[in-house]
Amino acid sequence: VKFLVTGGAGFIGSHLVELLIEEGHDVTVVDNLSTGRLEFLKDVMGSPHLRFIRADLTSPEVAREVTKGADAVVHLAANPEVRIGSQSPESIYLQNVQMTYNVLEGMRANGVKAIAFASSSTVYGEARVIPTPEDYGPCYPISVYGGSKLASEGLISGYAFTFDWTAVSYRLANVVGPRSTHGVIYDFINKLRRDPTRLEVLGDGSQSKSYVHVSDTVRAMYQLFMKALEKGVRYEAFNIGTPDRISVLEIAKIVAETMGLSPQIYTTGGVDGGRGWRGDVKVMQLSIEKAVSWGWSPQVGSSRDVVRRAVTEVLSGFK
Ligand code: NAD
Repeated sequence: VKFLVTGGAGFIGSHLVELLIEEGHDVTVVDNLSTGRLEFLKDVMGSPHLRFIRADLTSPEVAREVTKGADAVVHLAANPEVRIGSQSPESIYLQNVQMTYNVLEGMRANGVKAIAFASSSTVYGEARVIPTPEDYGPCYPISVYGGSKLASEGLISGYAFTFDWTAVSYRLANVVGPRSTHGVIYDFINKLRRDPTRLEVLGDGSQSKSYVHVSDTVRAMYQLFMKALEKGVRYEAFNIGTPDRISVLEIAKIVAETMGLSPQIYTTGGVDGGRGWRGDVKVMQLSIEKAVSWGWSPQVGSSRDVVRRAVTEVLSGFK
């Protein structure tokens, strides 16, 4: 299969590209390297099966050009920072919703009929049902980022049914592992490197979420997409996570312990009832039964196991 992976030089993207090449596919990566890094692809860069294009997909012309010749698109390019949505909704809209539209229009112009999309657990907003299943609704996101992912899913589903495509969305829990360049583990490590004596935790510390390892995530993306193509489905959404959750305060302790430090850990108290930021969902855990019934299951273990492993991996990425 000739895959186009947008955002393929990013954290999740680079792991997916490695897997696709290992599985014998041809991969074109399009990335503007805003948060992605070429060195993330260094193990596969010499491969005749990899082509890298540095370009910005907020341009419709670029999106039309790069989708030419692809059999299937995995769309990961986005602004992945949930937090910035309260300061700059426009950048979230342009990089998430508009960019998705550009990719879809490029696909339509070039007759490409298959897309997999990195959506997010944030589409559910403050779900009343935990673990939250895919058919939970109505979805009322509480962040601009979550809104942008739900809007993108809506466009993708609309295109799939209108033009007879196969499309899947992955509603990802918090993904962690080597090369992560954002998120709570990365932030805590950075804070402790700056000041090993204290560690500030945004919010009241009780925020409790589900963590999934990047290796399990990209395997889910690949397996579920291939199966959806085989079945010729129109549109399916899949939750990708682990069957439990862990609080941010516990993560702070694990990070400190793994770094061999005993900082004073304190919480900011947070905003809006103890949230880390406006739009921070306090409790997130996804039902993964659907993905499991399609043949995938997470291998790394519980959220705690995933966090422990990722802290060690992210630490070894710092030089
Ligand atoms: P990332 O920042 O490492 O990956 C995004 C990639 O897109 C980067 O390589 C970046 O350079 C590229 N990109 C951004 N804007 C672009 C543009 N205009 N043109 C071309 N390329 C552009 O983040 P990630 O964590 O790997 O996230 C990948 C996807 O998964 C994103 O869509 C994100 O919203 C989604 N997601 C991530 C998580 C998580 O926990 N990491 C959770 C839910 C959803």
